Amino acid sequence: MRKWLVVAAASALAFTACKKSETVKSSPSATIGAEQIIEASNDGWLSYGRTYDEQRHSPLTQVNTDNVSQLGLAWSFDLNSSRGIEATPIINNGIMYVTSTFNVVYALDARTGEELWSYEPEIDMVQASNACCDLVNRGVAIWGDKVFTATIDGRLVALNAKTGSVIWEKLTIDKSKPYTITGAPRVIKGKVIIGNGGAELGVRGYISAYDAKTGHMDWRFYTVPGNPEDGFENDTMAMAAETWNGEWWTAGGGGTAWDAMAYDPDLDLLYFGVGNGSPWNQSIRSPEGGDNLFLSSMVAVRPDTGEYVWHYQTTPGETWDYTATQHLILADLEINGETRKVIMQAPKNGFFYVIDRESGKFISAKNFVDVNWATHIDQETGRPVEIEAARYYDKEPYLQLPGPLGAHNWHPMSFSPDTGLVYIPAQEAPWVYGNRADYKHIPGTWNTGTDFTIALLPSDRATFKALKSMVKGRLLAWDPVKQEAAWSFEHNGPWNGGILSTAGNLVFQGTGDAHFAAYNAKTGDQLWKFFSQSGIVAAPVTYELDEEQYVAVASGYGGSYVLGYGGVMPSGSDFNSGRVLVFKLGADSQLPAPEAEHIPEFDLPDPVDISAEALTKGHQAYANSCVVCHGDHAFASGLVPNLQYSGITRDPDLWQEVVRDGMLAENGMPKFSDVYDTDTVEAIRAYVISEARKGRDQTFYNTIDD
Ligand code: CA
Repeated sequence: MRKWLVVAAASALAFTACKKSETVKSSPSATIGAEQIIEASNDGWLSYGRTYDEQRHSPLTQVNTDNVSQLGLAWSFDLNSSRGIEATPIINNGIMYVTSTFNVVYALDARTGEELWSYEPEIDMVQASNACCDLVNRGVAIWGDKVFTATIDGRLVALNAKTGSVIWEKLTIDKSKPYTITGAPRVIKGKVIIGNGGAELGVRGYISAYDAKTGHMDWRFYTVPGNPEDGFENDTMAMAAETWNGEWWTAGGGGTAWDAMAYDPDLDLLYFGVGNGSPWNQSIRSPEGGDNLFLSSMVAVRPDTGEYVWHYQTTPGETWDYTATQHLILADLEINGETRKVIMQAPKNGFFYVIDRESGKFISAKNFVDVNWATHIDQETGRPVEIEAARYYDKEPYLQLPGPLGAHNWHPMSFSPDTGLVYIPAQEAPWVYGNRADYKHIPGTWNTGTDFTIALLPSDRATFKALKSMVKGRLLAWDPVKQEAAWSFEHNGPWNGGILSTAGNLVFQGTGDAHFAAYNAKTGDQLWKFFSQSGIVAAPVTYELDEEQYVAVASGYGGSYVLGYGGVMPSGSDFNSGRVLVFKLGADSQLPAPEAEHIPEFDLPDPVDISAEALTKGHQAYANSCVVCHGDHAFASGLVPNLQYSGITRDPDLWQEVVRDGMLAENGMPKFSDVYDTDTVEAIRAYVISEARKGRDQTFYNTIDD
């Protein structure tokens, strides 16, 4: 019995080995110069945001508003994953490079989907279990004859673009700390740029540049200051330290640069976005307040040296997980009769920012969804005017919009120079922020300093229904000059896919409820829709080969919203199979029929004889350490084992071996012996069983509207 359970759990998480193709059909060009990426040729998609300005807008017009209804599936490729797929496929010389779960890289024939090679890094699952928000990856970068991938366990790997063999590999993190990488590298002037994540678990953020040829680290820019006693790395860190107080370095400070980058070759500036504080709660992190630079900022540096040039901070004194790691887009906009070189961002905090990208000076900002933490951004200072109740740590808990999932998360936007609009995968997902009085920093677990037991969805029907009705998601077309919406299209829920716009007057986006659709870029009319079987969070791309335009997107639902709420909230799909889906006009391929959903036999477990006080302790521990993967009310999304169904939950000794002692650490289930004693681990089990005994399945939550 016990053996079966362990094997079942292992196989649910394990990844089957990839096959290597014998031959390579075509080879990439010998070099990909900087100019080629900037002037990206239409037959490829050479960098994460297509071009260094990260506009994700294609000049291709073969597929357009007149004929998009004839779009059909040309081919699909099975990514062998049931987790979230966030990768942007990179296409060069007829080859598509795409990443799957556990950083497996596939090279595919971009015309047919035939596999040319695959590369499987052996992921250190103990390090990977520090991932806050699913085992995801946003794709590769290419340069010259190499493909670069950054792994969830902190490595940067250079592969031979023709064969997938490893050319060099560098560890970019200190493995004694809970760093992970989910972002796609960018290559600028022969340097591979990569950041990392981990601000929920307690790290100090930085971004680094490695020589594309040799893997030698050229520079590293820290985003927050370290312990002053160790000496500051540079004047910039000394300047940043002026905005902090207390012993912020003990929990790392945070500020991880885990996603957005952009580059302006004329100004020779590399831009990147900086994340939230560690812990979230500023009264713990920096007790006397302060701006806490460079948390929640856009930062501009010289790509050759990493030298600081300017910053703009979106959320001074960040205390709500309001990262500014969200997509950065560069464009030239006509504002008050003047052409301005701007950088634009719609960070988690709900305001859309237009900033001068030469100087970092504030131009304008306006909320693009409902917000209740600040009334507006002051036009003179460029700082938010906060609503007092929002700083929860010395006040009552506060129901806030946006919550930590953000008004916009990592899902890429696009900017169309044709319509002048920015297309935003926007959402409204509230959260109750409250102080956590018993906070102590525990390395390697979620350290927010906030009380997750009150932040989670309520159990009573009326409150649940009220809160659920506040949760929304939409495709929003935003005019960055007027700072107002041009149109919006309402989805079934939040956490939808990234965006592609094209000169065919089209906008493409996938949704959490398993559709991929095209819209008129000017009006928002939905013109075409495809049932993708699995939910989509990744962003689409387009390319043209042999005079045929292809539109590609990866499916595979996942990420923090899905892990935490996927079991109980709308917009998820029942079936999750990671795939690359590629479309062209007149094609009519079909996806393989989905396997019937396996609903396990589920006898109610016996109640655990435990005091009410201990049950509360179990609930608190679950909320602070388990919910982020195993889901609200212990009802999982399906991406990780459902603890309500699990045989491990029913066996108190085995439960201790798994949760306390780390029996499944190799499969990514962390061990909690440093965090919780045996009694608390048993109390967590009692809480899970008490939730299971309520007999609530997904139907309960999804029919709560009735
Ligand atoms: Ca965060």
